Amino acid sequence: MRLTRYFLPVLKETPAEAQIVSHRYMLRAGMIKQASAGIYSWLPLGFKVLKKIEDIVHEEQIRAGHIPMLMPTLQSADLWRESGRYDDYGQEMLRITDRHGRDMLYGPTNEELITDIFRANVTSYKDLPLTLYHIQWKFRDEIRPRFGVMRGREFYMKDGYNFDLTKEDALHAYNRHLVSYLRSYERMGLQAIPMRADSGPIGGDDTHEFLVLAETGESEVFYDSAVTDLTFGDREIDYDSVEQCQAIMEEFTTKYARTDETHDEAAFNEIPEERRRVARGIEVGQIFYFGTKYSEAMGASVQDKDGNKVPVHMGSHGIGVSRLLGAIIEASHDDKGIIWPEGVTPFHCGIVNLKQGDGDTDAACEGLYAALTKAGLEPLYDDRNERAGGKFATMDLIGLPWRITVGPRGLKNGVVELTSRKTGESVELSAEDAVARVVEIYAGV
Ligand code: ATP
Ligand code: MG
Repeated sequence: MRLTRYFLPVLKETPAEAQIVSHRYMLRAGMIKQASAGIYSWLPLGFKVLKKIEDIVHEEQIRAGHIPMLMPTLQSADLWRESGRYDDYGQEMLRITDRHGRDMLYGPTNEELITDIFRANVTSYKDLPLTLYHIQWKFRDEIRPRFGVMRGREFYMKDGYNFDLTKEDALHAYNRHLVSYLRSYERMGLQAIPMRADSGPIGGDDTHEFLVLAETGESEVFYDSAVTDLTFGDREIDYDSVEQCQAIMEEFTTKYARTDETHDEAAFNEIPEERRRVARGIEVGQIFYFGTKYSEAMGASVQDKDGNKVPVHMGSHGIGVSRLLGAIIEASHDDKGIIWPEGVTPFHCGIVNLKQGDGDTDAACEGLYAALTKAGLEPLYDDRNERAGGKFATMDLIGLPWRITVGPRGLKNGVVELTSRKTGESVELSAEDAVARVVEIYAGV
């Protein structure tokens, strides 16, 4: 993409309404624009990152054997009356009446709708196990929407639902989700720690929230610092193996890590003092096993091997796709702007032309642009007629991990400059070598 042809409405001023750094940078970098309280338009740069995060979530869910689909945002109130949640949900639910006077709602989540799909189509244990998921907009009329996309009213969420014959099978599904979530967050350059949490109104006993440590997080968390040494890395995993998934679940959830709702002071004090941590975190996902709560209320059952009708065991599992943009920026920025991890960056590499209009410099930039594009990467070429300082400030603000700077002086010596956004370190290389380096970096992402 050439910047002169793009839509990147960068703000010079720091917006007064933004209290935390991720919100400030998302507004300044022209990623989002508030449409009304807690509701945002996703401008091209923000939309690009949102899609990258969504793609990672899809890939990892499909890898785990979960099946994508799409349910609508607007739902009929009748299903929620059946489950008993229509009245329980309270004012966070946006209720709508259509022209025929029928009660509708903008879905805050989809347990009811998916259970209805399931009961209409599945009758035998032979069709299990089954995990269906979608990535769809949700609406919760939060009393205090704030921090930009972190706590919106309209937000984008992946929610998945497993249907299993037995509790053991459902716990395997739970563990599969835990593993697939660990992988997803790591690909986004994030450490998200599974912490034992409270199940709240959804019900059930087994639940973990995934938290990204950040001072601006809304949750208070308590953990053994040893959990921060755990990484999933590039291990191979067989998602059908109960033992493998169970072992990873145990590895990541045995050490003390809890949110304040489940915090147990006595257990916490058993951790060696130098490893006890009290901090704040951003919830970027949650997994639940809730047994037969919805299947019993809504009559979702299957025939088992002996011909008996039994309610299915279920769980639901969510990732805050739009919130993740805020969480990633909170975890990765400096005083100049965002520092995107390579896995989610909107463009792979910036190209800065120090002397727009100079024949050789323009040609060298075009050459880099063509070579990177040919290699399957997306460069962002700052081809504006602007001074170097302004171009660097924009690149730093929007946070592309790599930048190639091209000027007449370097070209005289046959070099361009490749700079890491994270470390600020630069190396001088030939244009071909700079392209090869960038290609090599992304080959491992
Ligand atoms: P919170 O406690 O932050 O209100 P929740 O526990 O009610 O969230 P879940 O029902 O577990 O949310 O939804 C799954 C994920 O969706 C959460 O882990 C979070 O990342 C995201 N999410 C929930 N509410 C919002 C919101 N208002 N804005 C943006 N993302 C949200
Ligand atoms: Mg939650």
